[in-house]
Amino acid sequence: MSSTNRPPRPAALTLAPLAPLAAALAAFALLLGSCGRQDDRPSADPLPTPGAIRVVVTIPPLEGLIAPLLPDGSQVRALLPPGASPHGYELTPDDAAALARADLVVYVGLGLEPGVMRSLARRGKAAPTQLCMAEVLGIGTDPSDGHDHSHHGHTHHDHAHDDHEGHEDHAHGPIDEHLWLDPVLVAAFVAEAGDAITGLLRERRAPAEALEAVERGTASLRARVADVDAAYRDRLSAHRGAKIVTQHAAWGRLADRYGLVVARVVMPVEANDPSPADAAAAAEALKREGVAAVFSEPQLSRTTAERLARLAGVPFGELDPVGDTDWVRLMMRNLDELKSKLTESAPARGQG
Ligand SMILES: [Zn+2]
Repeated sequence: MSSTNRPPRPAALTLAPLAPLAAALAAFALLLGSCGRQDDRPSADPLPTPGAIRVVVTIPPLEGLIAPLLPDGSQVRALLPPGASPHGYELTPDDAAALARADLVVYVGLGLEPGVMRSLARRGKAAPTQLCMAEVLGIGTDPSDGHDHSHHGHTHHDHAHDDHEGHEDHAHGPIDEHLWLDPVLVAAFVAEAGDAITGLLRERRAPAEALEAVERGTASLRARVADVDAAYRDRLSAHRGAKIVTQHAAWGRLADRYGLVVARVVMPVEANDPSPADAAAAAEALKREGVAAVFSEPQLSRTTAERLARLAGVPFGELDPVGDTDWVRLMMRNLDELKSKLTESAPARGQG
């Protein structure tokens, strides 16, 4: 596991509408891409268990979605250290070495992991097999189609650049890359990942037991993901249309899926903390808009979000977009938090 210590993100935060934030994050990801280096190490020795493979994933939730699909003896490594934000992640030399040894690299795409893309691109034909979540889901970077970019092979090193240029004149900003926070997309991804891993194992002439393990693991994880989806539908059904404020623009897909509205985001900017007057004005806006709750995130400073919730008199909670490697637990904790704060908020709004 890597032990990257990135410099802390700017602590100053202010309220902003969604689109500029998304654009700012995309630019931020571009600026803080990889410092990676050429890595021409030979591949590692084969793993001792027949059919076992080495997998590198970019963010911890992907580990939770891929590890259960793999045959016995396989190894999975998440590049992003626990507790870090995926935006602006920088590749370490250890990470580059792990990429060089991997049989399979799994990433989100849509410009989230530019350093990894560059490292893979540098390896050219020697690059490992790649599985891009956005690509297998047919979610592209071209705003004119939104559903078709998956026919060009592994050209994702271009995407961050495309995002930036392609969206400067588009009010909606780049495509939301937080695909792993939508259980419906995740269910489809798990099925595709199972197929991709099976294909890789066949190429490697893995034994039948290994292929069966992938099939079993895929079916089992798909059932668990379906349970998560059902729990969200069930427990959030009473809160359709509820407005929330989140720390960064990670929650739009989840909100759309289950009938919530992300009214605003608290956004990191290169500026001072909001003045008392600005904070009061922002809190008034939240009240006027009927925002039900404000949520911070463990990877970012909670100071401003907490202050806004207090000033607006609405419940304050925390949603985690990354977690550790247990995707199901991550999603269920977030559901518990949403349910709890929205329930707490509902009587207050009724009186209001
Ligand atoms: Zn994010």
